[in-house]
Amino acid sequence: MINGYTYSHMNSVYWYCSSKSQGSNLEIIKIPTPSGKFLLMVDGYTYNQNNGIHWLCSSFKTQKCRARIRYFEDTVLKVNTDHTHPPPKYYHRRGMYFKV
Ligand SMILES: [Zn+2]
Repeated sequence: MINGYTYSHMNSVYWYCSSKSQGSNLEIIKIPTPSGKFLLMVDGYTYNQNNGIHWLCSSFKTQKCRARIRYFEDTVLKVNTDHTHPPPKYYHRRGMYFKV
């Protein structure tokens, strides 16, 4: 248990947690990264934490994508999903997410 979540131990790097945001049907998946942080996957797009509750699309730098969300206490408060690109490809196997 970490911060009230039950994480499933996949291997030394990948852990995941899936939860539904209150008041919306967005599926939020946390994908830990080797650096010890995690990505948020919301509706197939991934976001990196910028600061505090502000998260920027993972393609912010590479695609100049301006999509962003605000995420606080497991709730997506505000969503701008104006992505300039298709969602990143992840494959999903036995609860694990891997970037293709
Ligand atoms: Zn984007």
